Amino acid sequence: MTFRNVWEKTLVQLQEMVTKNALDMWIKTLEPVAYKDDAAVLISPSPFQRDIVMSKYKDVISAAMTEVVGFEIDINVITQEENVKTPSHKTEEPKEEEPDPISNFTASIVHPEYTFDNFVVGDSNRHAHAACMAVAQNPSGAYNPLFIYGASGLGKTHLLYAIQNEVKRKYADKNCLYVRSEDFTNEFIEAVRNNNQSDFKNKYRTVDLFMVDDVQFLGGKESTQSEFFHTFEALYGDNKQIILVSDRPPRDIQLLTDRLRSRFESGVIVSVGQPEYELKAAIIRQRCQFYKMDLSDEVVEFIAQHVKSNIRQIEGVLKKMMAYRLISQSTPNMAIAQSAIRDITNENQPLPVVIDKILLEVSREYDVTIDEICSSRRVEKITNARQIAMYIMREITPMSLPEIGKQFGNRDHSTVHHAIERVEYKIRMNSNLKLRIDDIIKNI
Ligand code: ADP
Ligand code: MG
Repeated sequence: MTFRNVWEKTLVQLQEMVTKNALDMWIKTLEPVAYKDDAAVLISPSPFQRDIVMSKYKDVISAAMTEVVGFEIDINVITQEENVKTPSHKTEEPKEEEPDPISNFTASIVHPEYTFDNFVVGDSNRHAHAACMAVAQNPSGAYNPLFIYGASGLGKTHLLYAIQNEVKRKYADKNCLYVRSEDFTNEFIEAVRNNNQSDFKNKYRTVDLFMVDDVQFLGGKESTQSEFFHTFEALYGDNKQIILVSDRPPRDIQLLTDRLRSRFESGVIVSVGQPEYELKAAIIRQRCQFYKMDLSDEVVEFIAQHVKSNIRQIEGVLKKMMAYRLISQSTPNMAIAQSAIRDITNENQPLPVVIDKILLEVSREYDVTIDEICSSRRVEKITNARQIAMYIMREITPMSLPEIGKQFGNRDHSTVHHAIERVEYKIRMNSNLKLRIDDIIKNI
């Protein structure tokens, strides 16, 4: 990784931490120059901008970059003139033979922050966590292959890296390989194109621990599936550990060949479920400790209640609040938590747009018109679609029950409450409904 790569990743992190204006005006216009004496040196086009950045944004940039590289980094902003005066800060990429310290460092670690120690366990992830611990303690034991599935942002990738970190610590000689299924696919296509399949096979068929993330993306890719099948068979035949992660169980992965599906189902299957309130609160407290951010119990509870399903969103909310703390030098209060949640859960889409999209997607999926959904007609098909739309609004927007009621011809909050309960009940009775709703949400 070059320093420029680090800077690009830092900018991505910063999107969640500062306003778009601040990012565009003050930060994106900085030029990454070098990593020197534990500090990142950035060039500012003007002394004025340098002063603004150093007084207002230094800490938040440093926090973002620290997050990217996994160790503490200080920020130093200088002007082009100052850079010329100091010969050691050359504006070029480091030469091949002297790699910069960051590239050395990040090449030797793989997400050290994803460990079992900082994975918070609750009812919804207890089984998955236990299975992963068992695999890390004793690879190629009783859990092979291990198949983990669950919705996005619930810690699946974290668990994979935790296994890898633990295995590396315990069995230094074991060769672990983590790959996302899209990367496996692309590498395979590339290998075929370059007539390099033997290298490809060498790489994938000689590992002790094979971890594949997001295997649902193999769906529909026939020749990759065939290669994947043979990789699987070779490794499994050699008693190597295989761990597969997906957003859905094997039976729901579309266009997957029967032989792969049956391999995926041949070992242990565990799921991670929607996080319960207590787990969310515990994760918020853990992250606050990490960020050294002191939030009142009231604010922690508020966030735990309002971030609906996704732990990644919790992190997004906390980062926004942390940025606020750095800029304003005060402890974020309830109002800040509210606006951070609004920002994150809407993913920057204005609320009316999200509402329209929900209505549109539900009307498509259930084959009723938007007018019908918003009307008071009580035909079962329409009532059902209306309830689903209400449920999704509650799931993915920060709207209150009365606010949701307003969208559906001024219904009162108890009607909305009842509708949401009905949908929750139906989901418990029928797990396909949950998948169907998740698909609608993805489209939104
Ligand atoms: P997935 O792969 O399921 O989409 P990730 O593993 O990328 O989700 O998790 C999203 C973020 O949430 C990561 O930063 C991860 O560290 C954090 N996270 C998820 N679950 C937990 C947990 N139980 N304890 C601590 N952090 C968690
Ligand atoms: Mg993931």
